[in-house]
Amino acid sequence: KKMSSAEVRQMFLDFFKSKGHTVEPSVSLVPVNDPTLLWINSGVATLKKYFDGSVIPENPRITNAQKAIRTNDIENVGKTARHHTMFEMLGNFSIGDYFRDEAIEWGFELLTSPEWFDFPKDKLYMTYYPDDTDSYNRWIELGVDPSHLVPIEDNFWEIGAGPSGPDTEIFFDRGTKYDPENVGVKLLAEDIENDRYIEIWNIVLSQFNADPSIPRSEYKELPHKNIDTGMGLERMVSIVQETPTNFETDLFMPIIREVEALSGKEYDPYGDNMSFKVIADHIRSLAFAIGDGALPGNEGRGYVLRRLLRRAVMHGRKLGINDAFLYKLVPTVGRIMESYYPEVSEKKEFIEKIVKREEETFARTIDAGSSLLEDLLEKLKADGKDTLSGEDIFKLYDTYGFPVELTEELAEDQGFQIDHEGFKAAMKEQQERARASAVKGGSMGAQSEVLSSLTDTSVFNYNKSTLESEVIAI
Ligand code: ATP
Ligand code: MG
Ligand code: MG
Ligand code: MG
Repeated sequence: KKMSSAEVRQMFLDFFKSKGHTVEPSVSLVPVNDPTLLWINSGVATLKKYFDGSVIPENPRITNAQKAIRTNDIENVGKTARHHTMFEMLGNFSIGDYFRDEAIEWGFELLTSPEWFDFPKDKLYMTYYPDDTDSYNRWIELGVDPSHLVPIEDNFWEIGAGPSGPDTEIFFDRGTKYDPENVGVKLLAEDIENDRYIEIWNIVLSQFNADPSIPRSEYKELPHKNIDTGMGLERMVSIVQETPTNFETDLFMPIIREVEALSGKEYDPYGDNMSFKVIADHIRSLAFAIGDGALPGNEGRGYVLRRLLRRAVMHGRKLGINDAFLYKLVPTVGRIMESYYPEVSEKKEFIEKIVKREEETFARTIDAGSSLLEDLLEKLKADGKDTLSGEDIFKLYDTYGFPVELTEELAEDQGFQIDHEGFKAAMKEQQERARASAVKGGSMGAQSEVLSSLTDTSVFNYNKSTLESEVIAI
């Protein structure tokens, strides 16, 4: 019998408990006392206080399962097998205690020992930073074949001055059926987006004190070295349950089944199923984030939630669901997760209420935008024009929050051409403005894309203070 997601999570924590780690609970997705982060985006993000020395942990060995949100992956959701907006990161951490030898050995033991996950060794590939011969040698000592060790220049974690170091990542080879052209390990070496080699675990070796004014090879060793690792639970579960993507696991399927019932459409794991996946993904983020106290709105976290909800609603429409429906999925999200994260079930009435209200707000935005667009198209027709300008499309989107895909659909239905180039130009200008004002980076993890990545698609605007704008002539 295949392990459940709850069992996979527990096995990780039990393993590190057996290695002397203390289990820290998962904390809120909304960062506490950390203005550099929009969302908790990794396990280590919640443990900064230990890593920066401001709090000394009782036990320098820590393990956790932590919910995380990464908006920079939003465009990947449903396209790759392995990306979500909300996912769980399993981690083990050493605050100045053990270092490389143990971190690598234990990672290998957990994945390959018959007592634990029992993965075949020849399915695993490891990447390493080319100068990090210590990690290379450690993997070799453990019996990894040199052909499974892949040097990657990018495997160095560094954010300005301060702690930095190489990382070594573990990939699972799902075989040639996910690599029809049989390009093999080259895919991994060239870091091409593919779903044959699934990155499951990143081991970060915080070893050096970075000094951007000197070459990396001259960085001094830190007096207290740290280990920070992150394993994606959904990816592990997908490998353990042998599903084509993360979405066919027990973490998502109950939500997808519910969407099937609501839409009357069938989910095909190998077919056109992006809408199911986006909905299943986004409702998890929404439910958990709202449960943790974030609310849909027009900036920061609220904007992220509004955007996630609107994307999910648009995908619902693609499946033929035109009424508010996302809120109905909240109890299912709660049930799937409640053994480790009771919070969504506990707050489900509140979460449902917020989601439903936001769905209704969006429905009104769509209605108002549709009638604006109708008027505009009438006017163009009367003037004998047959093209909807990029500026008009942008204005509907930016000022009224009207989804671009709807504008295009309605305009094309009436025989209008769409000025795609003009729209792109207007969008680009907007992105540049947003980027210029975007908050830059946290000190732990790849954060800088967070805000700038939010302006790239079509669902609605970032700048306006209200999306339920009065109807003003365009
Ligand atoms: P990828 O290259 O696949 O985008 P990453 O290198 O950006 O992943 P890390 O920052 O190394 O990811 O995070 C540690 C682990 O967390 C990854 O090895 C992966 O298992 C998991 N992970 C990262 N991002 C996501 C995501 N968006 N959805 C699901 N799991 C993720
Ligand atoms: Mg990534
Ligand atoms: Mg990666
Ligand atoms: Mg990684």
